[in-house]
Amino acid sequence: MSENPFEAIRKACDSIGHCFQTHLAKVASVAGSSKASMFSFLTELKPGAVNDAALLPSTSDLERKITAAPLTKEELGRATWTLLHTVAAQFPDSPTRQQKRDVRELMAILSRIYPCKECADHFKEVLKSNPVQAESQAEFSQWLCHVHNIVNRSLGKQIFPCQRVNARWGKLDCLDRSCDLEGSNNLSFPL
Ligand code: FAD
Repeated sequence: MSENPFEAIRKACDSIGHCFQTHLAKVASVAGSSKASMFSFLTELKPGAVNDAALLPSTSDLERKITAAPLTKEELGRATWTLLHTVAAQFPDSPTRQQKRDVRELMAILSRIYPCKECADHFKEVLKSNPVQAESQAEFSQWLCHVHNIVNRSLGKQIFPCQRVNARWGKLDCLDRSCDLEGSNNLSFPL
């Protein structure tokens, strides 16, 4: 005779609960020191990874995440370029007037409030001789690559091959167009 369905559900819940408790106990034992346990809420619970202490961020990494350590100019730069190149990768093929205006304003604002005066001043000059080009996704991402290379050159860094910009900064992997820019539509007609 088949098992009572309620009994089967109860057993499944018991088993999930046991599994969860086991993982929590493993994480607690790996976290070890009292300092690490303080930060253990930041650790992702990945079944199978909890036994590997090397996969857990060190205490100093975790402390850095929640203390206000000042960013270096380089970290700020990398984070900003990441944002900008990602906006460019997500930019529509046929942007609306508003979207074109938005990226022009974004660059102009950045050149005024970027929190590194020397960088902001230099970027103002770069924008003056290289006005934003954003008639399409391809144009905007190429323009951004070009101006990033001007900054790279001024810092003695390597020039990035702009034909590979889509390989480096591809579109975000989001379900159901949830990463589309605001104002984008399926038809992508310029307004
Ligand atoms: P980043 O230049 O930060 O680049 C990050 C990643 O982008 C690279 O690892 C590479 O994969 C990719 N990449 C590199 N070049 C391109 C490109 N052309 N196109 C697409 N992808 C690319 N620092 C200063 O010291 N003086 C300044 O005047 C200055 N001005 C800046 C102006 C702006 C607007 C910004 C956003 C940053 C500025 N910085 C400046 C910071 C500087 O550009 C770097 O971000 C920082 O030095 C760290 O460099 P990085 O070598 O880690 O790579």
